Amino acid sequence: VPDPIVIAGGGLAGQRAVETLRRSGHDGPVVMACAETHRPYDRPPLSKQTLSGEDAADVFFRAPGWYEEHDVELRLGVRATALASGERRVALSDGSRLRYTSLLIATGSRPRRLAALEGHDNVSYLRTLDDALALRGAIAEGRRLAVIGAGFVGQEVTATARAAGAEVTLIESAPAPLIDVLGPLLGGWFSRLHVEEGVEVLLGRQVQRVIAGSGGVRALHLSDGTVVATDHVLVGIGVEPDLGWLAGSRLELNGVRVDDCGRSDAPDVYAAGDAAAPLDPVAGRHLPGGHWESAARQGARGARAMLGLDPGRTGPSSFWTDQYGLRVQYLGHAPLHDEVSIDGELEARDFRATFTRGGVPVAVLLVGRPHDLPDARRLIAEAVAAPAGARS
Ligand SMILES: Cc1cc2nc3c(=O)[nH]c(=O)nc-3n(C[C@H](O)[C@H](O)[C@H](O)COP(=O)(O)OP(=O)(O)OC[C@H]3O[C@@H](n4cnc5c(N)ncnc54)[C@H](O)[C@@H]3O)c2cc1C
Repeated sequence: VPDPIVIAGGGLAGQRAVETLRRSGHDGPVVMACAETHRPYDRPPLSKQTLSGEDAADVFFRAPGWYEEHDVELRLGVRATALASGERRVALSDGSRLRYTSLLIATGSRPRRLAALEGHDNVSYLRTLDDALALRGAIAEGRRLAVIGAGFVGQEVTATARAAGAEVTLIESAPAPLIDVLGPLLGGWFSRLHVEEGVEVLLGRQVQRVIAGSGGVRALHLSDGTVVATDHVLVGIGVEPDLGWLAGSRLELNGVRVDDCGRSDAPDVYAAGDAAAPLDPVAGRHLPGGHWESAARQGARGARAMLGLDPGRTGPSSFWTDQYGLRVQYLGHAPLHDEVSIDGELEARDFRATFTRGGVPVAVLLVGRPHDLPDARRLIAEAVAAPAGARS
């Protein structure tokens, strides 16, 4: 029996990898180690449909029987705990030490934690299906929710909670949401979006002190003296690659650097999704993942590369978010921009923002314009193909 291909992590990238292996004709053993006790599922619905009460069963990629039918050994509730790449072995929390022909690191990312809020029952993070189900009860009509961090997950929870009738306060330490990525004009637009929907948006402030009682956190004292009374707190201050288990392996713990095919520096070790740091074609440097489309693409590409097949094309990083019934799409790498031009109307929630550097497009933000996406992709792809000096 040949050694298996081992997939560490049972999320989107891992799922796409096993599907691609089987679809590409690989008939050798495949083992998938998943830290969670659920079979692989999709995360974007968690902050949208699942949180708003839709059937949690809709999030799973495949029916329970799919794994057996495709001869994938799914080990649920089992973590990868160490990698010995010289011996081509990965240790798992069920006590086994597996020799692999190839290994895919697809352990995703985990939420950054806020030390001041540790140890309270009414403080949530949102990464898993269980997190989403636990948070559901906290966003009912009239309940007060404080959201710390106006990244995409924080904003989506804010929008879903408002739709459910919750009273939401959104607290962000920067002067505007997403300002480091999109700049003040568009960051300000996101801020106004929430204000128009009845959210109290508190910018440029941090949590300084927590007032807690028997039921958990009762109020947050902010750095400017504001006191936010609340029934529940959601912390959404970003994620970091979930790679602690690679300590001692010499691979990077802040995102495994991979080439175009998803190969790391260790022989036959690949990485994909939020755990990987591929070369971003627009930014021109290795950046950790964090978005759905790149995780899906990299999982499939890594699997093809393991089998010696052409992995296919890469593309610029992209992301979408749904808030208040509005689709927002982003692609490219806006932090590079020195100018932004708007086509459409910010107030009407219907516009396209094109970010340029030295006149060369580096990113596009679409609000309420899903049909513009192919054109935006073309624009960024052409810019990537242009001489690199134009973007540096
Ligand atoms: C609430 C939410 C909403 C989102 N919405 C959007 C969106 O609208 N648009 C978008 O583009 N992106 C969105 N994302 C991001 C997107 O879902 C992720 O980029 C994507 O899931 C990454 O896939 P992955 O396979 O790399 O990691 P994950 O999906 O996180 O899967 C990794 C899996 O590995 C497991 N694991 C961790 N450590 C180990 C270990 N040592 N051993 C074994 N298993 C391990 C984890 O428990 C997890 O199940 C959202 C994310 C969240 C949390």
